Amino acid sequence: MKKFYQPVDLRSRTAMTAYLEGHFRYPTMNSWNQATSYACNLKVDRLGLSAEITDKLLDMLATDEFQDAMLSLRCRFGMEHGYLWQAAMNGRSGGYLVLYQGYSRPSKYKSYCRSCGQKNYTSVSETGDVCGRCGSHSRVDYATPPLEVGAYPGRGTDDCEDFEDWSMDQLRDRVRLVQEFDQLADAMVAEALELARTCTVEEEEYYVPQTRKVLVPSA
Ligand SMILES: [Zn+2]
Repeated sequence: MKKFYQPVDLRSRTAMTAYLEGHFRYPTMNSWNQATSYACNLKVDRLGLSAEITDKLLDMLATDEFQDAMLSLRCRFGMEHGYLWQAAMNGRSGGYLVLYQGYSRPSKYKSYCRSCGQKNYTSVSETGDVCGRCGSHSRVDYATPPLEVGAYPGRGTDDCEDFEDWSMDQLRDRVRLVQEFDQLADAMVAEALELARTCTVEEEEYYVPQTRKVLVPSA
């Protein structure tokens, strides 16, 4: 099975530079916008797994439960890095895990409804506690406003970077970040295998309500 994490000698400039320069990269948007970043190829058939497990994972990819489990691991990575660094999938079939730069800042929301969750830009002291959506007296002010999180998808990381000018501390920080990113890829594969071991994919029929016009004899 493929392992993404690799140990790097953090005392060696040569080893750290070789690791960063040799790491797999992938475009952050499209192949023609020139921006690339550190990436891991998570295509199921490239993970060195048995044909049986590969087939099962390919089947599982289409389920919401599987995608939610993977998303929650990527979100945790973003949270642990203050959202300055985030991990997201890219590629035509979403097979590549890519390291993105991002940001977080306090949002402009001042209050929310405890009953339906609706957020509001005004404070209860300005507009009262009635919720505009559900009408109940359930609005309260946030103690601290929720974060607004975003990413810079067009921004590459270390594209054609010459690490010669970097201090050892800068290099170590960058190597640790990319190693943690590689560990995220390993954690996603481990979680996928655990789901494959403990779950089966089943088909479920569901009905979507639709409307149509019908002719009804007048009374
Ligand atoms: Zn409400």
